[in-house]
Amino acid sequence: MTQLKHYLETRKKLKAYEYVMWLMSWDAETEAPKKALEYRSKQLEVMAGEVYAIQSDKHYVQAIESLHEQLDTLDKDLQTEIKKEFRELRFIKKVPKDAYIAYQVLLSKSVPLWAEAKHKNDFKLFAPTLKEIVEYQRNLVKYLEEEHLKGYDLLLDMYEEGFTQKEYDFFFDTLKKELVDFVKEVTKDPKPLHPKLVNGPFDQDKQKVFSEYLLDVFFYDRERGLLKTSEHPFTSGVTSVDTRITTRYLEDNLASSIFSTIHEMGHGLYEMQNDPKYDDTYLHGGTSLGIHESQSRMYENMIGRSKAFWQVHYKKLQEVFAPQLDDVTLDDFMDYMNHSARTLIRVEADELTYALHIMVRYDIEKRLISGDIEVEDLPKIWNDTYEAYLGIRPSTDTEGVLQDIHWSGGSFGYFPTYALGSAYGAQIYDAMEKDIDVDQAIKNNNIQAINDWTKEHIHQYAQSKTPKEIMLIATKKPFDPMYYVNYLKGKYAK
Ligand SMILES: [Zn+2]
Repeated sequence: MTQLKHYLETRKKLKAYEYVMWLMSWDAETEAPKKALEYRSKQLEVMAGEVYAIQSDKHYVQAIESLHEQLDTLDKDLQTEIKKEFRELRFIKKVPKDAYIAYQVLLSKSVPLWAEAKHKNDFKLFAPTLKEIVEYQRNLVKYLEEEHLKGYDLLLDMYEEGFTQKEYDFFFDTLKKELVDFVKEVTKDPKPLHPKLVNGPFDQDKQKVFSEYLLDVFFYDRERGLLKTSEHPFTSGVTSVDTRITTRYLEDNLASSIFSTIHEMGHGLYEMQNDPKYDDTYLHGGTSLGIHESQSRMYENMIGRSKAFWQVHYKKLQEVFAPQLDDVTLDDFMDYMNHSARTLIRVEADELTYALHIMVRYDIEKRLISGDIEVEDLPKIWNDTYEAYLGIRPSTDTEGVLQDIHWSGGSFGYFPTYALGSAYGAQIYDAMEKDIDVDQAIKNNNIQAINDWTKEHIHQYAQSKTPKEIMLIATKKPFDPMYYVNYLKGKYAK
């Protein structure tokens, strides 16, 4: 059998396993009965073992290596895919198997331990495990280091290809210079919000009606996707014909479900609008976390929080919640959902302060991976950094260093992509406005015109282009953080 044929047949098999495992985890996070956890874990372990065996099978590895040596005999997309798969082999080839397995076992225990520590406000409970995770990450960068990619850079590049400390330092230094004082100024004396919007309660069934309405407004294809609920909203997809999203309905927070639904729809549209020719390949999906987040945040913040949008849809919201919002005006609602405040919790942060939360994490991760600071130092450094950037100090570790799940899952280098995504989003939106009348499209309730633009300039390419290439295609310029700074300043200076 030729190497190409072997590669394609194995890929077909892997895609089938991955689809089944994906369905299992989707089910687990949305609807599975609680007590099925242990049974499901057992089955998942078997499946994961099979997948590992197929992926690390020497004939499959050889097929990838040999195709990588004759790239120019392959078509363009297959070249990109083989390069990507060849790079993935570094994990099998360079990381000692024992270390890898021990790490997987560690991770399977660390998330529940982190959750307990967070619940009990007890950092010491989680610290020894976090220390082991950090140790592994420090070793990982040594196993994988290349001449031009070492230390924290290696981790950053795993989540956002081509972005290392050099790029991120420039990005965050710009934000530091432009935004830290600006945020303090804007949030100095907050305008009181309409009590009916702050207090609720907001009927969950009515919130659901409105979220379903939003799916239609954004032309989210219900025949290729669906909307369910989960504790933390997310998007999950494996093909352009099956891209699912979740939201959550909180009785005391109306904005939460509305903007979670739009945010996840932004992610969902990206994958749904991938060219279907990638469905059976390893190029389906978003090209990077940052570009993915640019889409969710652009749809959520720049379209979903715009005045034009609510000029069209606020009546519907009032109608669904009637008579609760009858005496709440459109301007009251605009103030409510674009309100900015310096708070301690990243996931609840508003659009303006969000990047400062990410800056804190970037600074800390950078020093932690380099060995400049240790796990024991984290609570104090965390609090000091919050004080420096946001001017507020957590009084507990639950609200401080323990608030995010990421480190307990071994994700270092992930956080910066959130801020980068918002910044990409601003630059992309600016380019889109030069091509089409975005405001008018929103006012005409024609979001499809926006979807068509994002499909043509970003979504269709799936992973066949790098993040840097996507920025050039979509905006005709390399990434520039000033689009983001100017967007935020323009919006919040008012
Ligand atoms: Zn997102």
